[in-house]
Amino acid sequence: MRALYPGSFDPLTLGHLDLIERASRLFDGLRVAVLQNPLKQPAFPLEQRLEQISAATAHLKGVEVGSFDGLTVDYARTCGASVILRGLRALSDFEFELQIAHTNKSLDPDLETLFLATGVNHSFLSSSVVKEVARFGGDVSHMVPEGVAQDLRRLFNRPSPPG
Ligand code: ADP
Repeated sequence: MRALYPGSFDPLTLGHLDLIERASRLFDGLRVAVLQNPLKQPAFPLEQRLEQISAATAHLKGVEVGSFDGLTVDYARTCGASVILRGLRALSDFEFELQIAHTNKSLDPDLETLFLATGVNHSFLSSSVVKEVARFGGDVSHMVPEGVAQDLRRLFNRPSPPG
């Protein structure tokens, strides 16, 4: 069974990566796909987000990286995915995620949305929190993969840590 994990990943966090690692053990194939949302102005261009995800998932078998615009259900069909994977952190995620899951179900009844609970250590992590901390020079090394931490330092003109 193949799954699609869609998101903005602006940027990829260790919370996302934890979900990808766990899901890669559940499915024969997992496509992590960046949604190009015309309503959002991303901090990182699409190509850079794809590179960040590819680098962080290179060690995982069966994980592919892609991007799409338009409807997630259409892209899922194109990828041969029968499951859309999403993550749940707090109750605040639930209402929004449930609405999207029901909408997608109404558009394609053959497609299931599956939620994985966030890893305990990653429940506070979001791409926006990471950007906020990095913007003011805080240490994000426990929040994002090393390559993303470097990209964040470059984005906000912060020097690399010693060593
Ligand atoms: P979107 O704009 O589609 O919400 P995100 O990149 O913010 O894109 O999130 C993609 C998915 O990953 C969502 O289902 C979100 O709930 C989930 N997610 C985000 N951060 C975490 C985390 N720390 N732990 C588990 N799941 C997460």
